[in-house]
Amino acid sequence: MTRRLLIYIIMSLAATLLAAARTYSVREIPNVHVADSTRFVSNPDGVLSPSGEEEVNNRLRAINGATSAEVVVVTVDDIDGDIDDFANELFSLWGLGKKDKDNGLLLLVAKEPHKVVFRTGRGMEGLLPDGLLGSIIRKDIAPRFRADDFDGGVNAAISTVSDIITKPEAREEILSRYANDSNPDGDLSGDGIFRIYLTIALILAVISVILLVSKLINSSGRDRHARYLALDSIYPVILFLSFVSLGMALVALIPLLWLRHRLRRGPHYCPKCKTRMRLMDEVHDNDFLSRAQDLEEQIGSIDYDVWVCPKDGETEIIPYIQRSSAYRECPVCHARTLRVISDRIVIRPTTSREGLRQITSRCLNCGFEDHENRRIPREMPKVVIIPGGVSGGSSSGGGFGGGSFGGGFTAGGGASGSW
Ligand SMILES: [Zn+2]
Ligand SMILES: [Zn+2]
Repeated sequence: MTRRLLIYIIMSLAATLLAAARTYSVREIPNVHVADSTRFVSNPDGVLSPSGEEEVNNRLRAINGATSAEVVVVTVDDIDGDIDDFANELFSLWGLGKKDKDNGLLLLVAKEPHKVVFRTGRGMEGLLPDGLLGSIIRKDIAPRFRADDFDGGVNAAISTVSDIITKPEAREEILSRYANDSNPDGDLSGDGIFRIYLTIALILAVISVILLVSKLINSSGRDRHARYLALDSIYPVILFLSFVSLGMALVALIPLLWLRHRLRRGPHYCPKCKTRMRLMDEVHDNDFLSRAQDLEEQIGSIDYDVWVCPKDGETEIIPYIQRSSAYRECPVCHARTLRVISDRIVIRPTTSREGLRQITSRCLNCGFEDHENRRIPREMPKVVIIPGGVSGGSSSGGGFGGGSFGGGFTAGGGASGSW
């Protein structure tokens, strides 16, 4: 007991120490934008308050929307090594700024060592020269950080930057031809495709549920067999949706199968005396079936369920048509025992005239034979397809849930300071 307590105390102490001041390597900084394309602030230690972070993020989103510039704020407790090197590496790792304009800007704050640095992409150096960024650190940031107002300092700095780069002339200078969050190499990442697929799968699952519920509502109040047929009619669709939705449509398929089974094989009660009826097995149900019904069961066109009341012998014979069967209903004896026995082309179609097919069907039950003539449409003249047509195009991919920065580059421009 005491040992367990000791371990607990040591572990909580360790946790407290670890939580006290985390030191990050470049790769450990969470790239929140990749997870969510609307995020431009990485604030894992809560250096900024939630509302302060939100305010900064809104400004950065607005800048990105208006100018395509990728301005990112990273605030952490502490970092590994020199802050200038760290900022260079992080900037390159994330690829801030669009490839064609290099319009990235990084503001990195390390709270414990009181260090702050701006790093500019090459395309931003003209609008935000090192001297100007140095003065933003001295005037907007340092005084507020000294008063522990990190929200205020970062917001003031980003507000100044925003005023400069959203001016029409400035915007024109840095506006990229690439769309925001498009992959700079032109195609979607595997991650993006997977996310799109997940979304589609979810939509398919919702469609399945809507389909099931609407069938249930439509068939409510109708007799049991009609309700069974209503559910059975959507089974192939929902089965297909379950496959293509990675199993998400199982939320509709499983209840469908259960309900369908209950309607067919759940307890049946005698319409006369309300006694629970017995289901005859495949061998004994033949005694209750007509010759035609027996034949239908043998050839597999209809499966009959025979329910018998043990008290008064009342029977219910319920037909279940087998969808996969090639037999159709005979127009004479109405048994489902009619089948195509020959299908031949009498007149072959050409490009100038229609053709003719003769289809012969015969009923296994009554021997009725049906000859049906069907026209075959004229053959299409051969079409020559001329290759070419679509050319060029933009290199921007589609948007998706997560984002990516534009693969921009820094030559090390910017300014750093402390408070
Ligand atoms: Zn009965
Ligand atoms: Zn017939």
